[in-house]
Amino acid sequence: MEYSHIIVRYGELTLKSGNRNDFLKKLTKNIKLNFKNFKNYHIQTKRDRMYIFLDNNLYIKEILNKLKIIPGIHSFSPVLKGKLNIEEAKMNIDKLLSEKTKQNYKFKIQTKRANKNFEKNTNELNNIFGSYVLNNYKNLKVDVKNPDFIINVEVRSEGIFIFTDIIKGVGGFPVNTSSKVLLLLSGGIDSPVACRLLQNKGVEVEMIHFQSPPFTSKEALEKIFTLSQKLSEIVGTIKLHVINFTKLQTEIVKNIKSNYTMTSTRRHMLKIADKLSKNENIYAIATGESLGQVASQTLESMQCINEVTNMPILRPLLTMDKIDIIKIAESIGTYKISNLPFEDCCTIFTPKAPKTKPKLEKILKYEKEQENIFNSLVDECLETKKTYLINKDSINLLEDKKETIEEDDFKELL
Ligand code: ATP
Ligand code: MG
Repeated sequence: MEYSHIIVRYGELTLKSGNRNDFLKKLTKNIKLNFKNFKNYHIQTKRDRMYIFLDNNLYIKEILNKLKIIPGIHSFSPVLKGKLNIEEAKMNIDKLLSEKTKQNYKFKIQTKRANKNFEKNTNELNNIFGSYVLNNYKNLKVDVKNPDFIINVEVRSEGIFIFTDIIKGVGGFPVNTSSKVLLLLSGGIDSPVACRLLQNKGVEVEMIHFQSPPFTSKEALEKIFTLSQKLSEIVGTIKLHVINFTKLQTEIVKNIKSNYTMTSTRRHMLKIADKLSKNENIYAIATGESLGQVASQTLESMQCINEVTNMPILRPLLTMDKIDIIKIAESIGTYKISNLPFEDCCTIFTPKAPKTKPKLEKILKYEKEQENIFNSLVDECLETKKTYLINKDSINLLEDKKETIEEDDFKELL
């Protein structure tokens, strides 16, 4: 059996009536980007739904899988479309049922008659198709309350559509229809998931990663590239800023009381992200933090860390349990990459007993003592950042700033 079309429903998109045309253009463009490897289809975008015409079903499985992950799609159905003709609709029901008659299924006919000029009304159509199925498929029974499957019949001006499956999409809004956010991307499980949840809401995500070579390895950075490539798949291209954090991080470790180094490290990460955002016209910062997961993710800690910025900090995973975060990571293909065993700059310098309830006055006092050094190193981090444009096939360095880190400088700490 070959489906003739796929109906795509927008859901939440319908709320945004003012920007609808722009949204639909972006959604159509994004679907085409995701369908790059498929041929023999074309798209008709209407105000209330989209039709994907299929010349054949060669890539149907891949197409349906792609539609499941494209933001802005509420649900979709592979359908058989015929003319406005009851006999043709019956033939299409036969085609659809050819795969459903092996067991004693209970079914229901659900007709929607958007075309009010059609000769029969909804009840008459339900009866016509219901009787047809009962007479021709002896092992099927009607059960309107608890059916195993529903045969949907949609009568529209363009024809009669028959389908059984309504497949859920991720919902949200088409990619890049909202403003930009700067996401702190680590090589862990959480921040890539936070990225995808924001992308699903139409947010354009730009990323910043802190590395501390030679304490963090080349492989750790490669892992960040691989994660970024994975996250770019549904949006096309992602911008990633890589900050060389070694000098600043080692100064923090040297100068700040050990149980406060974690707090200070995070504060400096956020300070750099804050400055970078302001240069890039970004209005919010995001992290993969989840409440209570580790010492730096208590509310007391967050309050101390947040103090360095007036930007809104978005934490899409704040109240989620790890087990649910992992499920999403698996479904978006980042889990395996995140699990590769390469160190993060935060973990290599983790103090034995980081403060879970740091005091703001204390961290302010410690940092004040080395204010000039810290400030100049923050500036140096920004001056030496490397920016990449990343898509699923390539990683392109946008700005190449001078390298300031010499491995020999840190020999005694290695
Ligand atoms: P993740 O799995 O995202 O690494 P986590 O549970 O391991 O999170 P932490 O290591 O405490 O938690 O990091 C909390 C958040 O801080 C991360 O989700 C990320 O947003 C940010 N972060 C941590 N390390 C880095 C890094 N090296 N570069 C950029 N951001 C980082
Ligand atoms: Mg981490």
